[in-house]
Amino acid sequence: MPCIRGAMQKGGIRRCGAGAIIAAPCRRNGVLPPRLRGFAKDTPGVIVIHSEEHRLQSGRSELNDGQLVPCYEKPARADIVRARLDAVGVGPIVEPTRHGLAPLERVHDAGYLGFLQTAWDEWVAEHSADIDALPLNWVAPGMTRRRVPRSIDGRLGHYSFDAGTPITAGTWRAATAAADCALTGADRLRAGDRGAFALCRPPGHHAGHAFYGGYCFLNNAAVAAQSLRDGGAARVAVLDVDYHHGNGTQEIFWERGDVLFVSLHADPADEFPYFCGHADETGAGAGEGANLNLTLPWGTDWAVYGAALDVAARRIRAFAPDALVLSLGADTYGGDPISRFRLLSEDFLRMGAAIAGIGLPTLFVMEGGYAVDDLGVNVANVLTGFTNA
Ligand SMILES: [Zn+2]
Repeated sequence: MPCIRGAMQKGGIRRCGAGAIIAAPCRRNGVLPPRLRGFAKDTPGVIVIHSEEHRLQSGRSELNDGQLVPCYEKPARADIVRARLDAVGVGPIVEPTRHGLAPLERVHDAGYLGFLQTAWDEWVAEHSADIDALPLNWVAPGMTRRRVPRSIDGRLGHYSFDAGTPITAGTWRAATAAADCALTGADRLRAGDRGAFALCRPPGHHAGHAFYGGYCFLNNAAVAAQSLRDGGAARVAVLDVDYHHGNGTQEIFWERGDVLFVSLHADPADEFPYFCGHADETGAGAGEGANLNLTLPWGTDWAVYGAALDVAARRIRAFAPDALVLSLGADTYGGDPISRFRLLSEDFLRMGAAIAGIGLPTLFVMEGGYAVDDLGVNVANVLTGFTNA
């Protein structure tokens, strides 16, 4: 059993003693645990894990620029990626295997998971099945989060941080299917694959230990990283290349020295999620120094982005992890409707090659990207660049 497990309580990651999570390294004298010796770095191709249940999350509207507008995060996103991967033949496309609640409870609060399972029914009982569940208000400085409200409206505000993330009838099933895709991908790495792609929808990197937002409910990348740790990896790195800061992943591993989080993203002084993702956020306790935020200005092109990716790659290599989880958002693309970087489609080939250059078994996990017409090409380019490197 991995040594980290003894430092956690059932129901998710909990702080030990004065607040630091204890995560004693499993590696002994540089020798990998037996279950990781199968990690191969020369297996060709990237297996794709995808579930059609993503369609069950199909929100009607989100709050944007003062208006309720059609959701940017919609089923067509995954459909076009899958179609492109089929056409390019990156690798076989398989269904995920069910993993149940236990791996979700390793990174998420049990009360939060319970809320997600019943929120829609509670919403319908109080309001209507004709309207998506969106929160009305949130806790501000000076207010207290001591109690979880009884009202569904209060609970929506308690567990969320924005009004862009509607809960619908199918949210829980779609979110768990996405997490199963990531967990199945982690299984593939453990079995020796060099690369795997979890085509997750809804995305996950904005979801924290006990909150949702930014179109995310369950943190697929964090669940997969924890699964790799539980499977015997001494250290795991998460590299987040989505345009937006992966605030949920940062929060989950904030006090962890065994999981490095590196994120390249638009400066939160200008961009969602606004309240975290700054360069001076470096982790705490056992996780001090295991969090690296590389903030980039609006208008960033490949020359700037590629240089930052080199910095990220060097930091990851220095951490010497056994595996890499790659939060893959393609909203860094110049044509993205809600983002302001300027990457071109061919830059995503370079991105894939740079990730391959890190030299680790890599699980790609789909995050954002809203230029639907070009999303398939851009995602496929990352995987092709990785495979061909
Ligand atoms: Zn994003």
